[in-house]
Amino acid sequence: ASKRGGKMRCTWYAQALDRNREARLDLDNELRAALAKGEFRVNYQPLVDARTGAIVAVESLLRWEREDGSQIGPNIFIPVAEESGLINAIGLWVLRTACRDARDWGDLNLSVNISAAQLRNPEFPILVGQVLEETGFPPERLELEVTETCLVLDPVVVGRSLDVIRQFGVSISLDDFGTGYASIGFLRQFRFEKLKLDRSLVVDAQEDDGSRAMMISSISLARAMKMGVTAEGVETQCQADMVRAAGADQIQGWLYYRAMPPEQIVALKDKFGSTRSDRSKVA
Ligand code: C2E
Ligand code: MG
Ligand code: MG
Ligand code: MG
Repeated sequence: ASKRGGKMRCTWYAQALDRNREARLDLDNELRAALAKGEFRVNYQPLVDARTGAIVAVESLLRWEREDGSQIGPNIFIPVAEESGLINAIGLWVLRTACRDARDWGDLNLSVNISAAQLRNPEFPILVGQVLEETGFPPERLELEVTETCLVLDPVVVGRSLDVIRQFGVSISLDDFGTGYASIGFLRQFRFEKLKLDRSLVVDAQEDDGSRAMMISSISLARAMKMGVTAEGVETQCQADMVRAAGADQIQGWLYYRAMPPEQIVALKDKFGSTRSDRSKVA
């Protein structure tokens, strides 16, 4: 290509990037307004005991319901909120809402996703303590889910914060395990009460021997380190049998339950009680 062609391409890229930046800015402004207008919802996906099928916990999952009735998933707007820092306000709102909703759900544990920007804020442990106090949620029932990206950026601050939070009685889970590049190293550097095996590992394990070996050895590694293991994204009976045989102690996936509004969790609890559940799905 000629020099001129190259220059033109550069201009084109620059314009595309500008448009992209504008679009992100628009979305960020919309998110700010959404938080003020109360357009965010927290849904809850049950996690079941791998052996009994009983619901043992719920994970809070953020939803954005716009005025026009459309729903937007977190994979689209959380990265934007992370970039602008708005995730701090949104994340705190989620934590408070979830603790308030789940407080009266008997002995069910509550998992809340925490993003890197939140964890890097040195005030984060104080905020968690305040939410626990104001909602009266028992800290022993709270699990915070963190990912590798939370840990790489600021390992010293984050490690210290996690220790403080753990002293409250809250436990820490490593989310999306098996998708990153240094996961095993993180298991040495930080302590986690629980490992959550990413859906991609569960799905691939069904098709490919290498992934299956990774799934099985990740679970035994976690168990050897005295961590609980949740398999995420289980959609088929075959996947459920596989992760259960490998030693996962909790299963989360559409085979059992999808994320649902808080009223439906209450209805489910009324139907099954908090320690019994749909046993038909368990082999
Ligand atoms: P995650 O924490 O790994 O959450 C699990 C995701 O897998 C959820 O997607 C859930 O709906 C989905 N899932 C569960 N079971 C199945 C299944 O059987 N099949 C399939 N295909 N998917 C399943 P969702 O709700 O779209 O959330 C996506 C991600 O957004 C979450 O992944 C989490 O990283 C992030 N997220 C959600 N809520 C929050 C939040 O309040 N704060 C932060 N920082 N991140 C959040
Ligand atoms: Mg999660
Ligand atoms: Mg996950
Ligand atoms: Mg995931």
